[in-house]
Amino acid sequence: MIPYTHPRYESLKKREKLADGYRDGFTVLEGLIAHGRGEAFNYLLGETTVPPAREAIKAGAALLFLAEAPVISVNGNTAALCPEVMVELSKALKAKLEVNLFYRNDDRVERIKRKLLECGADEILTEYSADIPGINSERRKVSREGIYSGDVVLVAIEDGDRTEALVRQGKGVIAIDLNPLSRTARKATITIVDDVIRVMPALTEEVKHFSNRNEAMRVLRSYNRDRNLQEVLNYIIKFLTGTLSR
Ligand code: ATP
Repeated sequence: MIPYTHPRYESLKKREKLADGYRDGFTVLEGLIAHGRGEAFNYLLGETTVPPAREAIKAGAALLFLAEAPVISVNGNTAALCPEVMVELSKALKAKLEVNLFYRNDDRVERIKRKLLECGADEILTEYSADIPGINSERRKVSREGIYSGDVVLVAIEDGDRTEALVRQGKGVIAIDLNPLSRTARKATITIVDDVIRVMPALTEEVKHFSNRNEAMRVLRSYNRDRNLQEVLNYIIKFLTGTLSR
């Protein structure tokens, strides 16, 4: 039991969720390592949503709002960290939820599906009848009704190969990734450099605020991925420069 007053409470809670996810069979050991890389970048961002991330969240919400067939891709880490809010977002958008795993096996897929259904989801896509060209891993297999035919895909804690392949297929890809230098961050249509746990509720709120397409298009036009990533890096530099003198 982590005491609420512990200075690293939030961070330790996340580790606990992922360790539980591992014990419950959603998360793999490799996913725990990927979380560690994320934690390091989270530290460098001051463990907060920096203004460029806030701007990217708005742009991501706009793209999701404008989508005809949005899909939320769920993996072992996101299923352990924030299943409830992913279901809430899918309902707000009428988006499909698809379980898509790098280290896929039927048991993990089934466990994650069950978790999302317990959180209130109506339907989870787990049939993998289509292939995304240009990917060698198991992640090339996707649902025909979901990622394969979707026009906008939300991914988090993703690898660069699939992001790149989805973009090549003409899809809008919104990536949540704490590492502004990753291939995913540099290839997605919109990159939100922030912790998925902070992003999901904010994204859900933003999506609910949009009421007309013109407003969403205006937000999208003002977003520029590379400029946004540079602004995030500037925040990291500023944070590092000031840290020891604080
Ligand atoms: P790429 O192939 O895009 O260069 P990678 O090889 O780093 O990325 P993975 O090993 O799959 O890809 O790592 C997943 C990414 O997810 C890492 O960049 C990590 O910073 C990020 N990440 C980990 N935990 C979180 C989290 N809680 N929220 C957002 N991003 C996270």
